[in-house]
Order: sequence, then structure tokens, then C-alpha cells
Amino acid sequence: MFKKILIANRGEIACRIIRACKEMGIKTVAVHSDVDRDCLHVKFADEAICIGPAPATESYLNIPSIMAAAEISGADAIHPGYGFLAENTYFAEVCHACGLHFIGPSKESIEQMGDKIAAISLMKKAGVPVVPGSDGAIDAQDPKIASLAKKIGYPVIIKATAGGGGKGMRIVHVEDELKDAIMLAQSEAKANFSNDEVYMEKYIEEPRHIEFQILGDKFGNVAYLPERDCSIQRRHQKLLEESPSPFINPKLRKTMGRAARKAAKAVNYVTVGTVEFLVDKKGNFYFMEMNTRIQVEHPVTEVITGLDLVKEQIKLASGYKLSVHSDRIKILGHAIECRINAEDPDANFIPSPGLLGTTYFPGGPGVRVDTHVFSGYTIPPYYDSLIAKIIVLSPDRDDAISRMSRALKEVETQNIKTTAPLHIKIMENEEFKSGVVTTDFLQKYIYKTQE
Ligand code: ADP
Repeated sequence: MFKKILIANRGEIACRIIRACKEMGIKTVAVHSDVDRDCLHVKFADEAICIGPAPATESYLNIPSIMAAAEISGADAIHPGYGFLAENTYFAEVCHACGLHFIGPSKESIEQMGDKIAAISLMKKAGVPVVPGSDGAIDAQDPKIASLAKKIGYPVIIKATAGGGGKGMRIVHVEDELKDAIMLAQSEAKANFSNDEVYMEKYIEEPRHIEFQILGDKFGNVAYLPERDCSIQRRHQKLLEESPSPFINPKLRKTMGRAARKAAKAVNYVTVGTVEFLVDKKGNFYFMEMNTRIQVEHPVTEVITGLDLVKEQIKLASGYKLSVHSDRIKILGHAIECRINAEDPDANFIPSPGLLGTTYFPGGPGVRVDTHVFSGYTIPPYYDSLIAKIIVLSPDRDDAISRMSRALKEVETQNIKTTAPLHIKIMENEEFKSGVVTTDFLQKYIYKTQE
């Protein structure tokens, strides 16, 4: 087992990882930018090292600085959390070259799943269903592009091969819009990912985003856990997650879980990861992508299974044999997670950084809060706007919704706008209560627009 782990991240996930390490008797090293000096992850860790100025490119993405901090502190492993360097193959490689363990899958697995076109073709070969699409990169000037779109069938979606965070996507309903949409998606992809390669697939209408947490060891064993339904999104970014999905029955759970396992095995996956699928109205499912990291929404799965996924991840990275068995997992109830972002939902989700006045989060039976903020904390404008995750566990979905609604009403973040009021609206929405949630839920039932 590792003796000292450096956490190359900040915010709630850095605190979450430090907590797991402490319970495992592992020493921790926090790294931070100069504006994050007073952050909770810095206070919680055994040691803390400043790795640069506020902009992430100069601190949390600064590989030489992070490696120097690992060297100085004598860490034997690095946990990248999510975001920042978590899916950066070069970083995984540098860790390895410096004799440090990267707490994540191999560089090869990250690479194979990081390029969406390559991942889709690999999944096809492995027998995992994929969305019908272009079989590779496309170009607006290709004379056959219109006939390809017609063959796939409108509406189609143009996606960035290096995509993430819902960026670089364009839905196209008619041929007239096709060329412009491809060019726009290409320029958005170039701006966001320095890679303008895009591909095309069938746009699945009113889909559900269903994903499976998987765990793999170095001996080739892979387990899958019950699904998370992440259909409540804004601009293709998740806002709320729940488990189990109100749409998935035990038979479909097993079929999809096995497909997720097949996907993970195809890339010899070690540690924790997530296989994402789109599910249409009839229950047909299609592989979308695999995230090769611990995800924001992992607590939903933790509370319904009783597992600690960060501890499992650390154990698997250090070479332990998988101790989780999919068929022996019991679903302990119904869980919901709401992401509390410092953004104003009434002003087009504009970020709301600044000094937090009186701040408190909910508690009581069945409520877990993962956060790094507190009264008097200043939310810096440099990083993502997630300030807390509220997770509830209840015996059933109705109870989980009432519990979440109660918990959200206890949130106080003086001076700072958050997404909590939006989540209250969702909890009180009749369609949400009835379980009819798809990825267009927000536009359809909350904002009533065609965004
Ligand atoms: P990212 O890596 O940017 O998160 P994903 O491929 O995971 O991108 O897709 C994010 C979201 O975009 C999905 O959850 C879904 O809402 C929407 N989406 C992506 N592909 C399709 C598709 N073929 N049909 C319908 N919706 C899609």
C-alpha cells in the first residue's frame, strides 16, 4: 500500500481524497495555487506545497511544479482527482517515468478512451453497441457529407473527438444547416481542445444518459455497479444524478452492466472508471464514452452500495485484487445528488464568485454534503464553479425527492448565487417526480424554451 499520496487537485474532490487517505493511514500532500492558500484541502493534508500562481495553467496544470512537489515531499503516488490532469496521458507517463504511481488506469487505457473516434471503433470490435455514425472524422468540404448524414438519418449530432464538458457539439436537423454546423463544431473544438477533429452520429431523441461505474484490477477482473441516471443536464453538462435510474429494470441493468464490463476489459482497465451510454425510449442503449477517472457523481453510487470508491481506487492502483462482486451488490435505497454551483440560474448561469457570508449546508438523516467552502471563504474566479454536492439516501425515490427538497431549503450561501433554487424547482416538478426525465428536461419543463 502507498505511504504518502500527493493530491494534484483542489476543491471538494481534494478534501474527499484526503479523507479516504486518512482513514487508510496514508499520509497526504496537498498542492495549491497562491490564491488557494487558505483552502480546506491545504488545512486537511499533512503537508502542503504551493505550486504556482492562480491560473490553472501555471499551478494545477503545471506538471514540472507538481513533480517537484512530489519529489520534495517524498510521495510515492499521485491522485489526480477529476478535471485538471486526471485524463492527461502525458502526466500519467511522467509520473511513471519518475517512479511514482499514478492513481488511475494505464496511459494506454486513457489514450484508447480519450480519443472518442478510436474508442467507438474499439467498442464496435468488442461487441458493445454504439450510436450509428460516421465511422471516423468528417469534413464540411467532403462532397459525400450530405449523403452520409442522410444515410445516418436526421437529426444528427456533430461531436469533437477530443470533446469534454459538453463542448464542441452541434445538433443538425436539416441538410441546409449541415456544413455550417460542422465548421462551427470544428472551430469550437479547436478553441477548447486544440484539436478540430469532429465526427457525426445519429442524434438520439429524448435520450437518457445512463452510466455504469466499473472497477478493475491488475489481474483482469472487472466489476460493474448499479447505474447512475445523469439525464438532468444543462447544455450537455450534468446538474443532478440519481441511482438507481427510474427507467432501468433489473434485466436491462444486467445487460448494460455486462456491456460496460466488456468495454472496460477491452482496454485492460485498472482502478475506477465510468462507461457512459445513451438509452432511447425503447430501452436500446449505445456506448457514448468512457471516463477514465473518479467522477463528480461517484457519491451517488457510494451511498446506495455502501462502498468507498476512492478507497477502492487507491487499493486497486496499489495492486490489490478486486474485492467487489457485481452479483453480490445490494441496492440500499434511492440516492440523488445535486450539484451546487456558484452560478446564477436566473441570469444565464453567470458565475458568482466572491466572499461567502454566512454559509451553512444541510444535515440530518440520510444527507451527505461534500464541500470545501465555509463562511468567510472567497470563491476564486479561476476554477470551476462547483462549491458543494448534496447527496441524499432514502428508502425509495419519492422519499429521496422530499428529503432533497428539504435539504436544499436549508442551504445558505450569503452574497453568492447558487444553483440550489433551480434544484428545488426540479424537486417540485411533477414530470421529475414521475420519473420521466430525459436530457432535454430542463428546456422542456423548467425553462420551457428550445435552447
Ligand atoms: P462530453 O464528453 O462533452 O461530456 P458526451 O459524449 O459524454 O460529451 O455527451 C454529453 C451529453 O451530450 C450526453 O449526456 C447527451 O446529453 C448529449 N449527447 C451526446 N451524444 C448524443 C447523441 N448521439 N444523441 C443525443 N444526445 C447526445
